[in-house]
Amino acid sequence: MLKEAFQKKLDEAVSQGLLTYQKDKPLSSCSTFRIGGPVSFAVYPLCEQGVIETVNAAHFARVPLRVVGSGSNILFPDEGFEGAILFTRNLCRVSFDGTIIRAGAGIALSALALEAAKKGLSGLEFAYGIPGSLGGGVYMNAGAYDHELAEVVVESRYYDVTHKGLGYFRENEHEFSYRHSVYKNQDDLIVLAVRMDLKEDDPEAIKARMDDYMQRRRAKQPLEYPSAGSAFKRYPGYFTAKLIDEVGLKGVSVGGAAVSEKHAGFVINKGDATASEVKELMALIEQRIFEKYGIHIEREIIYF
Ligand SMILES: Cc1cc2nc3c(=O)[nH]c(=O)nc-3n(C[C@H](O)[C@H](O)[C@H](O)COP(=O)(O)OP(=O)(O)OC[C@H]3O[C@@H](n4cnc5c(N)ncnc54)[C@H](O)[C@@H]3O)c2cc1C
Repeated sequence: MLKEAFQKKLDEAVSQGLLTYQKDKPLSSCSTFRIGGPVSFAVYPLCEQGVIETVNAAHFARVPLRVVGSGSNILFPDEGFEGAILFTRNLCRVSFDGTIIRAGAGIALSALALEAAKKGLSGLEFAYGIPGSLGGGVYMNAGAYDHELAEVVVESRYYDVTHKGLGYFRENEHEFSYRHSVYKNQDDLIVLAVRMDLKEDDPEAIKARMDDYMQRRRAKQPLEYPSAGSAFKRYPGYFTAKLIDEVGLKGVSVGGAAVSEKHAGFVINKGDATASEVKELMALIEQRIFEKYGIHIEREIIYF
């Protein structure tokens, strides 16, 4: 009944050209891990008003609502999700004003880095090859090769689901730190758009740095298997991948989930892994490292 009311509201928004949606969409097709059961409603707003309509419809029909970018840092549950997931991928407009870029939260980080490079703007090279969206990147403060989004983000605009209104975070208000931002403390905020300040540089030099980072990724990371990137965060003073190797877990599997032989920091899906197998393997890694080194490593992958 509630779901019917939700669907009716969605249909109205579809007829106004604000969004599209799919029912019972397998979440395995929405995540780089290729794991997860169906979500009742996968909603794809086509503009910011589409986001607002989705939130209103979910409130009205009391349907649980979550937001996902590219699904590259998430482990979805085997049983799926009874509710709605708002996917930001169509919020991907980009505009330039001198060294300032404003982009929708759904744009892929790699596409954004390429756009910036073409304009001769430097600062996003590190993000080339991170398979996430800009919104997910701001949420996580995505980073690589000693750089992170915190260095370039000057403002983000969000929709506050609880108070039903738009808001902004500027500069330090983002509370960026290693794989952390203010958005991690407030799960009722949907990042809509982000303003970044970059530096002018030669487009070819920028592209050369991007290609170098991409080559290093291909050489070191098990990109031939589905995964959600580094399974754990760095522990101060340690390389997590080295710790995992030293406790003898490199290559070890639980069902279809395995610690990559190529990079022990990655838990990969060898083809038919379930979320529970991934969780079991992750727990084993945490336990072995605690037993040997007395430290609690923290998950980077988000359990949805
Ligand atoms: C092969 C591989 C390599 C990777 N390499 C790196 C790397 O070098 N550096 C790095 O930092 N990460 C890396 N990652 C992890 C991942 O790509 C990043 O964390 C990325 O920023 C996640 O973005 P996403 O859009 O996929 O977020 P999702 O996985 O979709 O979501 C992650 C979290 O962000 C929230 N979220 C997403 N969009 C929004 C929004 N618009 N508003 C509010 N909340 C939102 C979600 O609710 C969820 O809690 C890698 C992953 C893979 C698979």
